[in-house]
Amino acid sequence: MKGKLIAVSGPSGVGKGTIVKTLISRRADVVESVSCTTRAPRPGEVDGKHYFFLSQEEFQRRIDENDFLEYNAHFENRYGTPKSFVEKSLQTKHVILEIEVDGALKAKASMPECILVMIVPPSVEELRARLVGRNTEGKEEIENRLSRLEYELSKKDLYDYVIVNDDLETAIAELLAIIDK
Ligand code: 5GP
Repeated sequence: MKGKLIAVSGPSGVGKGTIVKTLISRRADVVESVSCTTRAPRPGEVDGKHYFFLSQEEFQRRIDENDFLEYNAHFENRYGTPKSFVEKSLQTKHVILEIEVDGALKAKASMPECILVMIVPPSVEELRARLVGRNTEGKEEIENRLSRLEYELSKKDLYDYVIVNDDLETAIAELLAIIDK
């Protein structure tokens, strides 16, 4: 089988990770690509599972060797999708990339068959309030997140599909329908 490549984007806090991970736990023919990043691991994150955590030098070496399907900087860290993993996996499975909008658009530019899916919140106001309400970040970080939220949503029309994450099971079913179409 030749699988489909699906990039799933959406603002921080919208629940895209839960949708993708639940779907993958139910479907053996769908995998998620493990990205490379230069950011430090958060507590509980495992190298090779959540991300491949690379030094700046190693990340640059991969760029120079044309190893990324796309890469981008996001909040001062770099993130990239390993091309070899995606191409190999697509021989037998559908592959989901959980990446931000600029990266997703770049992935589509290099692989036009890539399907772009954006997950949006039922209420932008509520998500905005939630991002502000998380007391873990400083003011600057909150401003960053809010401007990123507006930016991500402004790219919605460039996407092939938009899923409103009102109900988890409905959102999963909608994403599955896109994969199985
Ligand atoms: P976090 O640091 O919170 O794990 O991710 C920050 C952002 O980077 C998220 O929007 C995430 O989807 C995005 N991201 C993760 N992997 C990649 C990737 O391979 N390429 C791009 N362009 N963005 C990514």
